[in-house]
Amino acid sequence: MTTTPVPLDIAALLPDSTHLIAGEWVPAATKSTIDVLNPATGALLARVPRGTAEDVDQAVRAAEEALPAWRDTSPATRGDLLYRWAELVREHDDTINRLEAIEVGHPVGPSPIAARLTYLAGKADKIFGDTLPTRSPDVLGLTLREPYGVVGAIIPWNAPGPMTVFNTAAPIAAGNTVVLKPAEDAPLTALYLARLATQAGLPPGVLNVVTGYGAEAGAALPAHPGIRKMSFTGSPATGTAVMETCARNLIPLQLELGGKSPQIVLPDANLAQAVPAIVRSIIMNSGQVCAAGSRVLVHSSLHDRLVAELAEHFRAVRVGLWDQPVDMGPLINARQQQRVLDYLAIGREEGAEVVVGGGRLTGAPYDDGFFVEPTLFDRVTPDMRIAQEEIFGPVLSVLAYDDEEESVAIANGTRYGLTATIWTQDIGRAIRLARRVQAGQIAVNTVGDGGPDGSIGTPFGGYKHSGFGRSMGPDYLEDWTQVKALVINAG
Ligand code: NAD
Repeated sequence: MTTTPVPLDIAALLPDSTHLIAGEWVPAATKSTIDVLNPATGALLARVPRGTAEDVDQAVRAAEEALPAWRDTSPATRGDLLYRWAELVREHDDTINRLEAIEVGHPVGPSPIAARLTYLAGKADKIFGDTLPTRSPDVLGLTLREPYGVVGAIIPWNAPGPMTVFNTAAPIAAGNTVVLKPAEDAPLTALYLARLATQAGLPPGVLNVVTGYGAEAGAALPAHPGIRKMSFTGSPATGTAVMETCARNLIPLQLELGGKSPQIVLPDANLAQAVPAIVRSIIMNSGQVCAAGSRVLVHSSLHDRLVAELAEHFRAVRVGLWDQPVDMGPLINARQQQRVLDYLAIGREEGAEVVVGGGRLTGAPYDDGFFVEPTLFDRVTPDMRIAQEEIFGPVLSVLAYDDEEESVAIANGTRYGLTATIWTQDIGRAIRLARRVQAGQIAVNTVGDGGPDGSIGTPFGGYKHSGFGRSMGPDYLEDWTQVKALVINAG
């Protein structure tokens, strides 16, 4: 997790204060803008349009206009255009990585965006219907898979590159047209990816990006009568609001709302393998990852040794600016910083023990940005708020258990169920536990999709309050199609 400092000229990458509607880079209807700040320094990075319902309406109309031709474009051609988009992404990989790093605040690292786009492009011409059994040999029954129409996507600020790809390339490959609303804190990577998509030859209106605040542009998207399906990634509160709007408009929704993912450490775990991965999982992107492994469930026999080794690794985490050789940057904004500091206070009040960290980072270069210390809490019990609620910061809670039954009860004892990791040499036990833990993705001796071992096409999504629907996975494109049955009587 290191990087070399390279300057990034954002003004040369993106037309000033504009978003993408009908293939044109245009300002907000009101001409208002939002300042996008560097979370490490508070400096202005760029201005983007402060879109409202009017901009959303224009974007949906553009997507509606583009729909008939795009729906009828041959799947192979749709795939070719997405392959070209993937090639451009690969060509500009370094720029994309640095743009995301600077707006989100994380160190520059390898990105699987191009590979994911290639995967989705390859699926465009592999959407199949079925032949149905019929009562008469003269009757032929078929299913066709057709796109929904115009779909809306709302994404958060923590991983704008991958989120843009998951939530736009799949519906587009399946013949839908899209309106994307990125987060106000980190909209630049999404805009740049959209620019590359237009350069790849995606026709005007197939992908539209409207920037703006959640309460303005965001709320207007699922409320628009032209939207036929939505995807939302973000907080449970906003997800509930989006779902209520979708219910009023009777449109389906794919929802991803975060997690409180357990890392279950069995007595025979290989700690040399587990400890660096556990620490990485919670400091990656300063813990602002829905799949962050934020709870360590350790067998009592291993507790003291594991906490000592985790503490050693936590103390070695280098925190700083995105263009320095660091492991972790700041949090995204002042609100998120305060939220994490509040949880650190709550953890102490609840009786958890701070082993490492526990506060704000101060002095140069930290005073200008939204930095907190990577924090390790020990003696956490399952009922504590820091063991139940998503903190979205670099805060790891250690909980001890005495037997397998208890480990499963603790793992399943939150409202979330996004991912889980099991650390053991005993594959039989790993399989048994994997079947019992309620999560959309279970990793054994690795950290799953978000980690270096994650495969490109791994389905990603939650059980329980973590949401529903899956990104990627073998059937992902089908989620962006609806089934039409066709019965032909040739008799
Ligand atoms: P949020 O849910 O408010 O924002 C996510 C997206 O929704 C943004 O694009 C935002 O503009 C939009 N939005 C906000 N209000 C909206 C509304 N009324 N209608 C439609 N869209 C709206 O999340 P946040 O405030 O940025 O973060 C708060 C917390 O959410 C975090 O601390 C974290 O716990 C959680 N979170 C989870 C994820 C995840 O990947 N699951 C991502 C980001 C944040």
